[in-house]
This record gives sequence, C-alpha cells and structure tokens, in this order.
Amino acid sequence: MRITFLGGTETVTGSKYLVESGATRILVDCGLFQGYKRLRERNWQPLPLDLNQLDGIVLTHAHLDHSGYIPRLSQQGYRKPVFTHPATKALCGILLPDSGRIQEEDARFHARHRLGKHAFPQPLYDRAAAGRSLELFKPVEFGEIFSIGSIKLHLQAAGHILGAGSLIVEAEGKRVGFSGDVGRPDDVLMNPPDPLPDLDLLLLESTYGNRRHAETDPLDQLATIVNETVGKGGALLIPSFAVGRAQALQHLLATLKQTGRIADLPVYLDSPMAVSVADIYCRYSAQHRLSHDQCHHMCELATYTRGVEESKALAGQRFPHIIIAGSGMATGGRILHHLKRLLRDHRTLVLFTGYQAGGTRGAKMLSGAESVKIHGEWVPVKARIEVIHGLSGHADYVEIQHWLARSQLTENTAIKLVHGEPESLEAMRDHLRRTTRYGVEVASYQSILSL
Ligand SMILES: [Zn+2]
Repeated sequence: MRITFLGGTETVTGSKYLVESGATRILVDCGLFQGYKRLRERNWQPLPLDLNQLDGIVLTHAHLDHSGYIPRLSQQGYRKPVFTHPATKALCGILLPDSGRIQEEDARFHARHRLGKHAFPQPLYDRAAAGRSLELFKPVEFGEIFSIGSIKLHLQAAGHILGAGSLIVEAEGKRVGFSGDVGRPDDVLMNPPDPLPDLDLLLLESTYGNRRHAETDPLDQLATIVNETVGKGGALLIPSFAVGRAQALQHLLATLKQTGRIADLPVYLDSPMAVSVADIYCRYSAQHRLSHDQCHHMCELATYTRGVEESKALAGQRFPHIIIAGSGMATGGRILHHLKRLLRDHRTLVLFTGYQAGGTRGAKMLSGAESVKIHGEWVPVKARIEVIHGLSGHADYVEIQHWLARSQLTENTAIKLVHGEPESLEAMRDHLRRTTRYGVEVASYQSILSL
C-alpha cells in the first residue's frame, strides 16, 4: 500500500490522501485549501494524478476543508463514487452548492473591482458543478464494510460533527486508520468518538496539538459575554461555521434564554443554509446528545435570514442583538458585511467560536490587528474581540491521547500527524512520544509512504 499526502499537512486545510494498492487508487478526503494565499493557490494547481485512474473518493465529514474540492474534480471529469455517511451526504447537499455560490460571488467581486491579476476571474467551480458532484455521493453507514477495487473500508463515528467518521482501510494484510477530525469526550452536541481498532498506521489530526481547551463552561462564558454586550447596548457578532458550531450556539443560547440567564433579545442566524442544517441534526438524533425537545428549541431559537435582502435589512435592527453568520474564520460569507459595518463601533463584541487558522482575518483580529482588510477596504477594529474555546469540535492533545488509550493500538502502530499548523504538529509529536509507545512522526506535503 502507498499513501501520498496531498494536503492537510503543515496546515489544517486541504485534506487529501491518495491511497494506492495494486491497481486500485482512492482519495481519502478532498478538501479545499484555505487561509494563507500560498495555500489557496494550491486549489488552482492540478492534482498529481490522472483522474481517470481514480476508483473512488471516501469522505470523512462534510466540512469544506475535507469536502470542498470534490466539485472541482467533478468539473474536471471525475465520475466515480464518493462514499460517505448519509448525514455527511445531507450536509454536503447544503455546503457544496453554497461553496459554489461563494466561489461565483468572489469571482464576480474580483471582476467588478478589478482585484487580482486576471482580467476575467473564473470561479474555482460554480453552483452547478457542486450540484452535479452530489449525484456521485454513495451513503454508507458507520460499521458498514464496503470495497473499492482491492481495498476494504469502513467508517466509524468520530464525534466531530454530524456524520463525521474515522476511516479504516484494509489492503495487502495491512490496516490503516484515517482519524478524520476527532471530536471531544464531552462535546456540547455530539457523542464521544468510537475507539479505534488495532492499526499498522494511523493518520492523526493535530489541530489542538499545542493547546488545551479551557476548563470554563462555554455556557457560563457565553452568558457573561451576552450580558456584557447587552449592558453596552451593542451588537454581538458571532462568525461561525454553519455546520456544527452554529447548532451548538443555537442550543446554548436557547438554554440560556429558557433558564432566564440572558434577556430575550433577538438572535439572527444570517445564513442561506442554517435552518436546514438544524433540521438535519434533528433527523440523526442517535449521534448527538439532544432530546427531541432540545432539538425543537434549538431550531426555534433564531430568526433565519436566508435571502440577501433580509440579510441587508439587519443593518437597520435596533441594538442589542446577536447575529450568527458564516464563515467561522471570517474568510468570507455574510459575516464580512456585518464586520465591515460594526467593527468600527466600540460597543460591538466579535466572538470567535473556535480555532482560527493562520493567515485568516479571524487570526488577525484575535492577535490584536488595529485594522483588517474587507473587500479591498481597510476597516478599523474598535470592537472588542473575544474567543470561546469550549465549543471547539476538536479534541485537544490530552483528549486525543485518552482516545488513543481507549483504542486497540499497539506499540507496533506508527502514527503520522496531519491536520495541524507546524507548531501544533510538533507539540503533538513531542507529547505523544513522551506519553505513549507509538512511533510518531509529522507528515510532510507531497511525501509518499509505503507499507
Ligand atoms: Zn471538520
């Protein structure tokens, strides 16, 4: 078996691993590169493989840094199946067309404002290509064994978001695990990740390889932040991933309102897709902790502004209020319009809800930037910037270590670390070398591993 690391190395984005056994070739995850320009430019480079020789794609979960490159390959002629959990298929049915729409809007915006070096900027892919790629999706349940050529595979629950799985691949008498993004033992919404079987090799995510999640209860932290913003009479802007994080926020805010810990102020979920996502969460109740009633309250909490005109009308809303909008790292989406309008107001509080990848506006604001560039314009940052870590969908390095301890890995298991910034990959490697008996190394971009 041969594994080529085509993304998700030295960064948290662009996850893509080519697995070859005999004449069979599969791609595990097919994510977009995001963040730094040098990374995003990789989205425009052709993959170093002939798409006609690819027998299948397996997707661990719906987040775009794992799924968002599928429409690009479909546009380039890929017609083989994409195997994934049915909930991931449902979530991609919302996320991928939305990503196509954002790509189209970006290209139009660059054309209108003559940004960039191309006279006629093209989208990486459009909504139609995203829609067509969804026809390739083949749902497989957790634990269901399926084959692609000579390779046998199954997904098992990883607890990161709805439908998220770790992938176990078997060929040539070897067993390899792809952790995917790994959830937490006590996530606000999701059940804990299932333990891994014995493996020859594990590709392990390292997003939180150098940080522990704060002990503070996200419910308490959110209550304090909402009440302080209400006291100032400002707006609370929450850049959030539309899938996972937004539902956790809806659930927490609904709980705070119901218990009277915050005022009954208006909450707007400014996203063309969020209402459908909450519905999908309620459909797959076995994977998460919410009761039927809690699901109902989560769905009912916010006013959904799906259309662009409704979204624009939020500019006329009276303070205080809460707006949740994508994207989670303020790299695009509707949150940009709200930030452009409200960042210069000292009464505003911008609350990031998770990890901010290097090079994103989110990372810049959190590190104290005095101004940020939005749509080609420098906007002064007068707002207070905060982050709430307790809502992260990723296990931290100690939680990962405990997950490995619950697994059937042995000292013969090799671990290759992926999906982390360089400093968290190194910290994770050092931590696991100190505390476990596995051979641990950091994977590098475009490296090839044979076993
Ligand atoms: Zn993810």
